[in-house]
Amino acid sequence: MKPKLVIHTCCAVCMCYPKTLLENENYQTIFYFYNPNIYPIKEYERRRDEFIDYAKSINISVHIEENEKYIEEWNNDIKGFEDEPERGARCNICFKHRINKAFEYAKNINARYVSTVMTVSPHKDSKAIEEIGNSLAKKYSPIEYLHIDFKKKDGFKKTNIIANEVGLYRQNYCGCRFSIR
Ligand code: SF4
Repeated sequence: MKPKLVIHTCCAVCMCYPKTLLENENYQTIFYFYNPNIYPIKEYERRRDEFIDYAKSINISVHIEENEKYIEEWNNDIKGFEDEPERGARCNICFKHRINKAFEYAKNINARYVSTVMTVSPHKDSKAIEEIGNSLAKKYSPIEYLHIDFKKKDGFKKTNIIANEVGLYRQNYCGCRFSIR
């Protein structure tokens, strides 16, 4: 039986290339959609629905976490950091919030590993994500954080090529209301 890998997923576009890398690995991969940072709710629904439709078309395992009840929790977590620039302290809190929830889910389903597709983006600090993942792994031991820097080897370019080929919706801001400006 292959060990389970819960991979936090922020949107369909960022999932495209990581999915191709993981399909030949020895994991039972579950793409875990959890993003209470996305604002407004219409945009959240659009990204979520695009993710669901694409996942169905390529026949992968997914879990869509509840969203509405965690929006306040996310807002409380980033309180005081609203004016931070992108790639700053607010983003690290946001990564931690979402990866933490992936660990919680992994614990519930007896998964062995947690990871995230967010490292595919050049706008996201992979080193910071790795440190956050490793510190959460200590809290949730024996679940391990599997660090994969998907942006390596032109990962971002590759994920965009696949997304364009299949005609996926591409957002033009990261997600939270502060990243719109
Ligand atoms: S810019 Fe993106 S990563 Fe940073 S806090 Fe906003 S949604 Fe989260």
